[in-house]
Amino acid sequence: MTIPRLFPIFDAVPAHETIDETALRAEVRAFVQTEIKSGTLVPGRQTWTTWNRAFSLRCAEEGYIAMTMPKQYGGHERSAFERYVVCEELLAAGAPQGSHWIADRQSAPQILRNGSQRAKDEILPKIAAGTCTIGIGMSEPDSGSDLSSIRTRTEKVEGGYRVYGQKVWTTNAQHADYVIALCRTSPRGEGRYDGLSQLVVPMDQPEVTTRPLCDLRGEEELNEVTFDGAFVPDDFLLGAEGDGWRLVNEELGFERSGPDRILSTFVLLSTMADMAGQTADRFAMAEVGRLTARLSAIRQLSLRINRRLSAGQDIGGMATIMKDTGTALEQEIPELARRLLDLVPARDGNPAQAALATAILSAPSFSLRGGTREILKGMIAREMGLR
Ligand SMILES: Cc1cc2nc3c(=O)[nH]c(=O)nc-3n(C[C@H](O)[C@H](O)[C@H](O)COP(=O)(O)OP(=O)(O)OC[C@H]3O[C@@H](n4cnc5c(N)ncnc54)[C@H](O)[C@@H]3O)c2cc1C
Repeated sequence: MTIPRLFPIFDAVPAHETIDETALRAEVRAFVQTEIKSGTLVPGRQTWTTWNRAFSLRCAEEGYIAMTMPKQYGGHERSAFERYVVCEELLAAGAPQGSHWIADRQSAPQILRNGSQRAKDEILPKIAAGTCTIGIGMSEPDSGSDLSSIRTRTEKVEGGYRVYGQKVWTTNAQHADYVIALCRTSPRGEGRYDGLSQLVVPMDQPEVTTRPLCDLRGEEELNEVTFDGAFVPDDFLLGAEGDGWRLVNEELGFERSGPDRILSTFVLLSTMADMAGQTADRFAMAEVGRLTARLSAIRQLSLRINRRLSAGQDIGGMATIMKDTGTALEQEIPELARRLLDLVPARDGNPAQAALATAILSAPSFSLRGGTREILKGMIAREMGLR
């Protein structure tokens, strides 16, 4: 199995940026080759949720984390498009970025916009150094789609808050330094979204326990997290008390719109394209072409959202549409691969077999994580004024 290459069609669609995209892609591909040789990257077996601190440290050394963050916090002040290109290449290679991915994708921008000076000074440099893992503390045992019904609550104490409650499905929480938790800081008011706030909960305290949950692949990336009076200093409240709903939605804009929502199974599409080219199978060519065209169109939407988010502009319902169409494509790729590739899926097989097995076992979760298909469709309908 060769290193998957993003299709030339991406290069054919001008991105209207001034950077030398080809040179940057070549640089990241060379980095990927080095990491494969040194064993920190195992093609076909990993996804962007796979936790690997050593690989994150290497990414930080190369300047591939906190790429758009201000230099005063250890960032590199590069363009949003440069970050996008680097993310694409690492995702296409199946690089294990779980140790820094969430922190880099959504927590850093969240803290940068809404955190206190202390939160920025303490947390952002660690994210940039690749030494900080952050978990998303939204879902609870009885509140997934309807986040406004969460029960995790706080008590105000001298200098901060005590947090009580339980979160679930928290990706990589067992390794996390912080979980950004949506909590009820005051009783529900007249509106269902009143009284909610986001707090950055430090995980290294006895009042926090995590219990890993095993997924279909046999991996333990998901967790239950229990807060039993966990302390959060005042400075680790994001925004103002009661801003939680607005902040969660801002954060979900970053979570739902990136290349990670289209490239989870890219390695298989690339393998099918190679096969179609070698065998001149007309059905395979047509199917790969169809999916590639969709991928290219959704990527344009993703890039557009990325630019608007970076400029602090409103993205309306675009991230919702992007996530729904992107994950549908990601799920269709392994289905086609099952029909086209003469491969027995095996997680401990060769890289192509491992990629197929990983994709088949992960695909059902793509349309759950980050918001389910039904919920996204409902949001799109609302955006269109249909409900
Ligand atoms: C791999 C993975 C990683 C995850 N990581 C995280 C994480 O790091 N942090 C975090 O907070 N959460 C995480 N989640 C949780 C995820 O956000 C929730 O699973 C998702 O929001 C759905 O919530 P639920 O599981 O409670 O299902 P429910 O909300 O109970 O929904 C069950 C079913 O009912 C449907 N449904 C619910 N309400 C409606 C409605 N109003 N109209 C129509 N249909 C409806 C849903 O679409 C779904 O099919 C992760 C999930 C997965 C699978």
